[in-house]
Amino acid sequence: MGNTAKKNIAVLGSTGSIGKQALDVIRQHPDKFKAALLVANNSWEALCAQALEFNADDVVICNGEHFHKVKEALEGHGISVHEGMGAVCDLVSKPEIDIVLTSMVGFSGLESTVAAIKAGKTIALANKETLVAAGSIVMSMAKKSGSRILPVDSEHSAIFQCLQGANGATVERIHLTASGGPFRTWEKTRIAAAKREQALKHPQWNMGNKVTIDSATMMNKGLEVIEARWLFDVSPERINVVVHPQSIIHSMVEFADGAVIAQLGHPDMREPIQYALGYPERLSLTNKKIDFAQLATLTFFAPDTEKFPALQLAYKALEKGGNMPCIMNAANEAAVSAYLKDIIGFYDISDIISSCMDEAGFIADPGLDDIYRTNTEAFCLANRKIDRKNRA
Ligand code: MG
Repeated sequence: MGNTAKKNIAVLGSTGSIGKQALDVIRQHPDKFKAALLVANNSWEALCAQALEFNADDVVICNGEHFHKVKEALEGHGISVHEGMGAVCDLVSKPEIDIVLTSMVGFSGLESTVAAIKAGKTIALANKETLVAAGSIVMSMAKKSGSRILPVDSEHSAIFQCLQGANGATVERIHLTASGGPFRTWEKTRIAAAKREQALKHPQWNMGNKVTIDSATMMNKGLEVIEARWLFDVSPERINVVVHPQSIIHSMVEFADGAVIAQLGHPDMREPIQYALGYPERLSLTNKKIDFAQLATLTFFAPDTEKFPALQLAYKALEKGGNMPCIMNAANEAAVSAYLKDIIGFYDISDIISSCMDEAGFIADPGLDDIYRTNTEAFCLANRKIDRKNRA
């Protein structure tokens, strides 16, 4: 495919936060990209509106309950309507699809990402849980099929961009920046009593609910440490997390001579999305540009692991290896969902994850089937703990 050809993009999770911003990138470059396949879970009305605006070839509504409504709304527009995860896995593998943007939330994103990798597609990876739960398996699968995985998460996009100037030099350390979330300056007792509305007020990034809560607990950074380990093949002790409240430096790479290359920008997910879709080209983008004189001060702190224990849990899971990151991720999904429903308190999230990591069955060298089973088991285990806390 030449540089002038339009790239056909599959947007998995098109009605979510990343999906909508990806469509805005596509909207700004209709000569470069076509939104060929759109996939949503439940938001069928938004999916129909997107399908019509972008004249998609195919749409999938994962929740079959809404299938007939979507079918009826798109009747006579030349758009094929499908339902269910099986259809997603088939459609991402079609020869017409060039890039698969995986922006579904949670472990449920794994199956379709695996299908796209097996088909050798370029993956614009926005689903963190894929690499967290099955990093080693997914990376060797990609190597085998020739699938290229381009990061969309802003920190990993930053590292990937910094590495473009590395000329093959060995990375000494990766510095992942973290905003610190909404509770960075709060006392621990106040954090313990925080409700979902407070946790959902992220100071810098505009994101979906799951990732915003993950950001408040700093589990988000933990998931990103694990992602970085697999994406860039660096050992955990070379991955450092630094709190940087302004979120202007999106991450940094340090080399043997002490030189550090950083990538900067205002927090706007459209930049890393566009870099992944356009790679290796850089395209214009209507976003806020940096005025350094206005910025004046950038600050940095070590993360407070006493107030935010989730980050250490992620390092522990990575060190243990095997299915442990999958156990951690499943327990986190269950706990965050319960916290969002006001069923458990803020620190119950990390307590539940920690006790699930102690109790769930460990597998040192899991296959993909083991990962699916682990996810279900750890999710159920976490939910039993949530029930018990709730009744107490
Ligand atoms: Mg991120």
